[in-house]
Amino acid sequence: AKDVGRNGFQFYSAEMNNRMRERLYLEQSLRNAIGLHQLSLWYQPKLDLASGSVKSAEALIRWRHPQLGMISPGDFIPIAEETGLILPIGAWVIEEASRQLAKWRDQENQDIRVAINISAYQLSHGKLTDQVIQALDSLGLDPQSLTIEVTETAIMPQMDKAVCELQSLREMGIRVALDDFGTGYSSLTYLKRFPIDILKIDRSFVSDIADDEESGAIVKTIINLAHNLNMTVVAEGVETEAQLEFLRTNGCDEVQGYYFCKPLPSEECLEFLRCRR
Ligand code: C2E
Ligand code: CA
Ligand code: CA
Ligand code: CA
Repeated sequence: AKDVGRNGFQFYSAEMNNRMRERLYLEQSLRNAIGLHQLSLWYQPKLDLASGSVKSAEALIRWRHPQLGMISPGDFIPIAEETGLILPIGAWVIEEASRQLAKWRDQENQDIRVAINISAYQLSHGKLTDQVIQALDSLGLDPQSLTIEVTETAIMPQMDKAVCELQSLREMGIRVALDDFGTGYSSLTYLKRFPIDILKIDRSFVSDIADDEESGAIVKTIINLAHNLNMTVVAEGVETEAQLEFLRTNGCDEVQGYYFCKPLPSEECLEFLRCRR
C-alpha cells in the first residue's frame, strides 16, 4: 500500500510537472509572439437586420504558434491576463485594428466599423484612452469607427477607474458595447451607471431561442430592455435560420454568428464585405 501511495504521488507530481512546464513554455512563447508576428486579428462581420447590410466587424485575436499551431484566445488570453502580457497584447490589438481600419478606408472608401475586445486590466491601468487616441490620431481615423467591447467582469474590479475610462472614450465618440450580456454577476443597476451604447446578448441565450420558451422570453426581454435604455442590441452566436428569424421578428438590431459568417482573416473578410455591400 505504501508503494502504491508513493507511486501515486510520483505520478501526480510528474503530471503536475508536465503541466507546469507546458504552461511555462506557452508563457515564454507568448512573450515573443508579438515580436515574431505570430498574432493576427480575424474579423467577424455583423449584419444589420433593418438594412440587410454589413457595416461592422468584430476583431478576434488569433495566435499561430510555430509548433502548436493555431491557439484560440480562450486558451491564451487568461495566461496573458495572469502574466500582465495582456497590456502589450492589448496595445497591439488597438494598433493593429486601427491599421486595418485605415487600410479598409483607403482601399475601399467605405465606412466600416471595427469592434475590439478589451480586458479588465486594460480598463484599470489608466492608459487605454491615451492608447486609443494615439492610434486613431496617427492614422486620422474617425473615433466613430471604433467600438470597444467589454464584459461585466471586466468592469467590476476597479469600477470607478473603469467608468472614467469608458466615459472619456465615449466623449471622444467611441462606442462601448457590453459583451456577453446576461452571463455576468452584476445587477441591472450597472446598466444605469455604465456608459454603454450597445448590449450584446450572450450566445448561451441565443442558442436555444427557437425551441426553448425561457430562452426566448429572456432574449425578448433583453431586446426591450436595451431599446428602452436607448441602446443598440446585438445577438451573438447565431447559427440557424430559425434563430435569425426569431431575432428579426423581435426587433434585434444586429446579428453575428456562424449562420451568417465565421471570423475570417482580413483579406477574406474584405471579400465578404464587398459582396454584401
Ligand atoms: P467573445 O468576445 O464573446 O467572442 C465571440 C466568440 O464566439 C469568438 O470566439 C467567436 O469566434 C465565437 N463565435 C462567433 N460566432 C459563433 C457561432 O455562431 N457559434 C459559436 N459556437 N461560436 C461563435 P473566439 O474568437 O475563440 O474568442 C473567444 C473569446 O476570446 C472572445 O469571446 C473574447 O472574450 C476573447 N478575445 C478574442 N479576441 C480578443 C482580444 O483581442 N482581446 C481580448 N482581451 N480578448 C479577446
Ligand atoms: Ca466580443
Ligand atoms: Ca461575446
Ligand atoms: Ca460569449
